[in-house]
Amino acid sequence: MRNFVGWRYIIAIALPLLLASLGVISMTTDLLKQVAGNADRAEELRNREIVVRLLKNAETDLVRLAGQNARWDEAARHVYPDVDAQWIRATWGSINSIGHAYDRVVVFERETGQVLASEGGGQGAALDLKSYLGGTFDALSSGFGEFDLAQPISSYAKTLDGPAVVAVAPVMRGAERDAPLRFVAFVRKLDGKFFSAMQSDKLVHELHSVPASMAQDQGLLVKTITGDPAFGLVWQGAGLGAEATSHARQKASLIVGFLLLVMTGIGFVCWRLILTLATNEERALHQALHDSLTELPNRAALVETLRELRAANTPHVIAYADLDGFKEVNDSYGHQVGDRLLRAVGAGIVRLAANATMASRMGGDEFVVLFEGEAAEFDAGKFADMLLHFLAKPFDIDGRVAYVGASIGISKSESSDGDELEILRRADVAMYRAKEEGKNRKRVYDQSFDVERAESQAIATELRGIIRNRSLDLAFQPVISAKDMRITGVEALARWPRHSRRTVSPDRFIAVAESAGLIDELGELMLDNACAAARDWPGLRVSVNISAVQLNNPRFVERSLAIIESRGIAPRRVEFEITETSLIRDADRAKLVFKDLQRHGIKIALDDFGTGFSSIGYLRTFNFDRIKIDKSIISKVLSNPGELAIVQGTLLVARGLSADVTAEGVEKQDEVAVLKLAGCTELQGHYFHEAMEASAFGKLVRAQREREAERKLA
Ligand code: C2E
Ligand code: CA
Ligand code: CA
Repeated sequence: MRNFVGWRYIIAIALPLLLASLGVISMTTDLLKQVAGNADRAEELRNREIVVRLLKNAETDLVRLAGQNARWDEAARHVYPDVDAQWIRATWGSINSIGHAYDRVVVFERETGQVLASEGGGQGAALDLKSYLGGTFDALSSGFGEFDLAQPISSYAKTLDGPAVVAVAPVMRGAERDAPLRFVAFVRKLDGKFFSAMQSDKLVHELHSVPASMAQDQGLLVKTITGDPAFGLVWQGAGLGAEATSHARQKASLIVGFLLLVMTGIGFVCWRLILTLATNEERALHQALHDSLTELPNRAALVETLRELRAANTPHVIAYADLDGFKEVNDSYGHQVGDRLLRAVGAGIVRLAANATMASRMGGDEFVVLFEGEAAEFDAGKFADMLLHFLAKPFDIDGRVAYVGASIGISKSESSDGDELEILRRADVAMYRAKEEGKNRKRVYDQSFDVERAESQAIATELRGIIRNRSLDLAFQPVISAKDMRITGVEALARWPRHSRRTVSPDRFIAVAESAGLIDELGELMLDNACAAARDWPGLRVSVNISAVQLNNPRFVERSLAIIESRGIAPRRVEFEITETSLIRDADRAKLVFKDLQRHGIKIALDDFGTGFSSIGYLRTFNFDRIKIDKSIISKVLSNPGELAIVQGTLLVARGLSADVTAEGVEKQDEVAVLKLAGCTELQGHYFHEAMEASAFGKLVRAQREREAERKLA
């Protein structure tokens, strides 16, 4: 998960989505609060209005009531000159009024405030009006000018009975204007009972009075006529806000729920999208750094790792393996088999390179395995040996048997390396060196390789021109019959053109041709030239050296026959020589090719016998027409009895296989005697002739023919 590229997308898509969701929820909550607040405020305003109206109504009603009762002649008659307590009790103090329209009625002297009669609430005339009304008394009793014109005066007051509204009016009395003025006061208590009686709809709940000091911040502060705080009124809201919120909350919950559902949906889609994007990106990244065929890291990945190791100063070693014979498998079995072979080799390399830093495919049939650390060089060498061993066994791909080997170049990092590609270049040089030395081996880079590589490249370049111009030289070495010392055949040997600035031995340029992919063309040129020359030497066998690489060319037999025929040479006059060591690889294929050639009359000779490791038993499986014992053995025949035993043993086997035996590199007369005695059928070597130009060989042949003609005549 550490390298999960999706994090970027999650941050880019999911995070904003989450934030948006949170934002919506918080905004909705805010809105709800606002709705509740607004509802509460609206309710508060309405309630206050109701309460104020209730108060006002109570006051207005009481003022009207006071006015009507005070300007009443009947009342005046019972108040002046003496107060008729009887009447007052019966009229103003009747139970219809007390407790319904007002709670107390008091008749008093304006000047002194002395109470003349008091009904409702007790105390009667003993009521002390000043203390009963508190600060309101003076304002109420002295507030009149011309009393007869005056309207009743009213005030809210904090009375001894509790919060109340008081309306005071002078009792009107016709003519007796000088007598002391008497007032009647009506008191209406503003208590819970009153309020509940006043509001039938019960819009305002639990409306009740509190001391003025408690109504500073909430409720309503009721003031007296003089502006002093009288008492407070408080009430309970109907919870409209809460009600509104609860409604809104239900709707909002639905909306938020729906929103969350949508968000979840979007989130899910995004998640899928993120996964797809992340997978795509990971795949693209993987593709950029991996080879699609083998799934191994590719060249880019390797170069990147090499760069990192170099930057970190970590010693490292690479083994650069190029498959030998892969092209032939591809050409003869097709790309599908070739691809499967590469995959099989790749899998094998991964298994063998378990302790490597990286096993990569460079493209084509090239693999590079990278090792790091102090033991890297040892590890790389061991890996190379294991790979060669692994490739020694053929691959079975869908019943097709494929042989490949590997040329492996090993190179280690140097602190002087110009860049990370230098180690690759050196391993490549070492790999080429391994190829030139005969393939299927490992070589550790040496500085001298660079010079030789440059030389090889120069040789390859020149060789291309030589092949194009068909300017290759040929030398011919006679082959002598051991029985009568007559020339019975000739071996064609390739020669670097004499006009060239350099001299290059055939061993060298043949190796270059093999590693540079020029051997097929060179071989065909050699065969063609040899056959062309052989037309002048009728009856003689002409031997041509064939590189094992040529056998892998699927058209080898067909093309060889075409060349031989085009020169008008009978195929049975032609012999192909092939070295023992090169045959060990892909012996099955070689057997098939040989069989095909032999079917057309071409003979097959095993060259350089005794230099390789093949057993005599192994030879039996091939049907050679001839075995050529290598000059290294012949040169020891005289001095070393063991070598003679080899020659004798070979001759025995060869006779058993009905093959001829040629001794190569015969240089001494004594060798001739021993080899003849041992039973060699033919001899070849400097003792008789060195390789020569065609014209020289032609002379030899003519001379021999003339001698024979003379002998016949004689
Ligand atoms: P080879 O096929 O074993 O050829 C014989 C080599 O031994 C020749 O060397 C020849 O000059 C040399 N030789 C012959 N008699 C004597 C002797 O008495 N003493 C000594 N010391 N050497 C003797 P050359 O021409 O240098 O060829 C070297 C090798 O190059 C050949 O070995 C052959 O394997 C390869 N070669 C030459 N021409 C061709 C060719 O056209 N195609 C291929 N594929 N290989 C070729
Ligand atoms: Ca030869
Ligand atoms: Ca030879």
